[in-house]
Amino acid sequence: MLRTLVLNATYEPLGVISDRRALILCLNSRATMVEDSGTVLRYSSGEIALPSVIRLNKFVRIPYRHSVPLSRRAIFARDGGRCVYCAAPATSIDHVIPRSRGGAHNWENVVSACHRCNHTKADKPLKDLGWRLRTLPREPVGAAWRILGTGRTDKTWLPYLEPFGVAAATA
Ligand SMILES: [Zn+2]
Repeated sequence: MLRTLVLNATYEPLGVISDRRALILCLNSRATMVEDSGTVLRYSSGEIALPSVIRLNKFVRIPYRHSVPLSRRAIFARDGGRCVYCAAPATSIDHVIPRSRGGAHNWENVVSACHRCNHTKADKPLKDLGWRLRTLPREPVGAAWRILGTGRTDKTWLPYLEPFGVAAATA
């Protein structure tokens, strides 16, 4: 089963649902197909395209903000898929303050890093190496980030996630 990205009437990403559920929302005029998945559902008297992105016809208010789960995928996305120390393509996750020195496993202390920097840094504090972070790590906000954390994303979703700060290289 494919999954469909759901956008609010304002185009803000809301979440991910099954393509069948998305199709039903479209057939009930509660949503409009924005991107076709290229997959066709066949039935006795015809066929219908399954959506990969839909947009709700009526704006829904989001009652509260969920925190974004910390995952390798989301960290790479936040850091643009680049090492926070040298800007090379990231291949690993690093704890800025090493865990062995009491560093927390949270958004403020976990960054994407290349293999070389991660290996060189090992459990040394940044000041011992004379290194700095290119950007200060923070928890990202917004639904686009929660969607990344759900796992598989579709390339047709990217134009709808990018305005919310999710980097194309990593989604
Ligand atoms: Zn590096």
